[in-house]
Amino acid sequence: MAKVIFRQAGYDYGPLRQNIFYMLDVLGGGAIKKDQSVLIKPNLLGPAGPETAMVTHPMVIRATVEYVIGKGGRPRISDSPAMGSFEKVLQVSGIKEALRDHDVLYEEFRESETVSVGDPFKKIEIASDALNAPFMINLPKLKSHTQMMLTLGVKNTYGCIVGLRKPEWHFRAGANREMFARLLVEVYRAVKPAVTIVDGILAMEGQGPGRSGVPRSIGALIGGNDAIAVDMSICRMLGIDPFTLLTNRAALDMGLAGNRIDIDGDMPSVSAFRFPEITPVVFGPKVLHGFMRRHLVQRPLCDDSVCKRCGECWRYCPAKAITVKDKKLHFDYDKCIRCYCCIEVCPYAALRAEEPVLGRSIKKIFG
Ligand code: SF4
Ligand code: SF4
Repeated sequence: MAKVIFRQAGYDYGPLRQNIFYMLDVLGGGAIKKDQSVLIKPNLLGPAGPETAMVTHPMVIRATVEYVIGKGGRPRISDSPAMGSFEKVLQVSGIKEALRDHDVLYEEFRESETVSVGDPFKKIEIASDALNAPFMINLPKLKSHTQMMLTLGVKNTYGCIVGLRKPEWHFRAGANREMFARLLVEVYRAVKPAVTIVDGILAMEGQGPGRSGVPRSIGALIGGNDAIAVDMSICRMLGIDPFTLLTNRAALDMGLAGNRIDIDGDMPSVSAFRFPEITPVVFGPKVLHGFMRRHLVQRPLCDDSVCKRCGECWRYCPAKAITVKDKKLHFDYDKCIRCYCCIEVCPYAALRAEEPVLGRSIKKIFG
């Protein structure tokens, strides 16, 4: 049986620290050995302050670091941010400042190893340091996600794919969200964090996980050894069937979900959480897919008055579908696979997903 712990919490450091210490004690933190390296994997999507809810809050990370040091372990913070340099993310998020008196190693994921995962992906390259970590603590942020609905415990481990390999895998999974969910579960299964604690104190709703999302105070910390059980419990907290989250569905199909979950603490009830608008995956006969993708599925659009032409989106786009013409962004919608990575990485919230006219008309007519 999987255990999932809920605690009502804020960022007031004393009580927050107590809650995190409790969770780590119950979830096996006592196994950390003297001088053992402990990998802490927060959500460091990009350079953003904690008030944006884009990154795991520095106080959650600090309490985790202090726990590890208290056990005699050597904390190490690692990730592979989608935008901005690792160093800049650590500065802007306030993590470096929060840990200025602590002995912590900061190391971006750089080297990968190939892991065999069978069909349909066969082999995935994952950060060696994550694969070989003697003890890993996963610290995700509870956020909405325009492509996968939510980013929670399982999705956070996707940061263990190094740099531009991430959009490359988006490209390989194409517009097939079920396939991408399966890939996420494979990555999670390969790195298998010992403990997951989700920062749902200041969460994000709406068109997350980047700057287009809206911070939403929920006041919950959610912990467990099994990130799939944690994610399923969070779905219940947000009032949805856990299997509407595709990573949970993929985990069920792979025989990794469905165990009974023992809840420790009171699960808060969260009303009217605003989930992102997600396009239906392309459906129907294959010959119609191109037509449907062009005319029915939401496409990325740019607000030229906000865009700074910084280049983050076109550098990241796995389909190389973005170019600049006459100082304006141009999307090649035939190449675009609708992964919405560009929206995720835009530091100025200049991009949004919008339904083409035909798709909107059909929705109006058929409701
Ligand atoms: S859309 Fe955003 S990421 Fe792309 S160039 Fe403009 S400001 Fe930069
Ligand atoms: S343009 Fe945006 S949505 Fe389309 S493939 Fe590139 S990153 Fe993905």
